[in-house]
Amino acid sequence: MVAAKDRTQNDSLDIVLDVDLSKRTSQLADENLALLDEHGVRAIDVLGSVGSGKTTLIQQMVRRLKDNYRLAVIAGDITTRIDAGRIETEGVQVLQIQTGGACHLDGKIVRRALDRLDLDQIDLLIIENVGNLICPAAFPIGTHKRLLLLSVTEGPYMAVKHPVMVRQADVAVINKADLAEAMEVDLQKLEADVRSVNPQIEVVTTVARAGEGIDDVIAALGL
Ligand code: MG
Ligand code: ZN
Repeated sequence: MVAAKDRTQNDSLDIVLDVDLSKRTSQLADENLALLDEHGVRAIDVLGSVGSGKTTLIQQMVRRLKDNYRLAVIAGDITTRIDAGRIETEGVQVLQIQTGGACHLDGKIVRRALDRLDLDQIDLLIIENVGNLICPAAFPIGTHKRLLLLSVTEGPYMAVKHPVMVRQADVAVINKADLAEAMEVDLQKLEADVRSVNPQIEVVTTVARAGEGIDDVIAALGL
């Protein structure tokens, strides 16, 4: 009996700590958003697993958007500069954040990045989050839109396995659609799964590598 009681107390203590952490986390995100708004910068958080095509999608978007917006990109990565280098070839300002092991960006890390950018010289900021769909759901970074990238190469169950992330996203992009048949993924079913988790979400299908569907992504983001 005593052991069971102790366990109950431990459980409730954990929950209290979580609430505090998530309150602080969303506070930091709100502060970032306020800072961005103050400088007239629109920000988009791009989320997706490693290999889903985040960098490729951003490259394609940048190519189409850089004439209409003063654009900057923040590229989050655990240890490498590979993605930043790829985006730099499009001729826009890229700030690389190496998280040094952390598997997600958070409001504090992003704030440090924002402080290094001249926000008055930027209209649009695209942030490539660390490749991971679990913890970024719990760490809003303070952007106007969240774009969730799902690749058919990840199999047919990505939407139902990451409902928290799907619920928080404004736009879902189903990428590598040309590989759907080979991966035995039913695109319509995947899209229906996304919509069943989040009826408000915009869904776009792309082959980012080939530039297919990118204009639809841009439209879905209201850019
Ligand atoms: Mg990448
Ligand atoms: Zn993480």
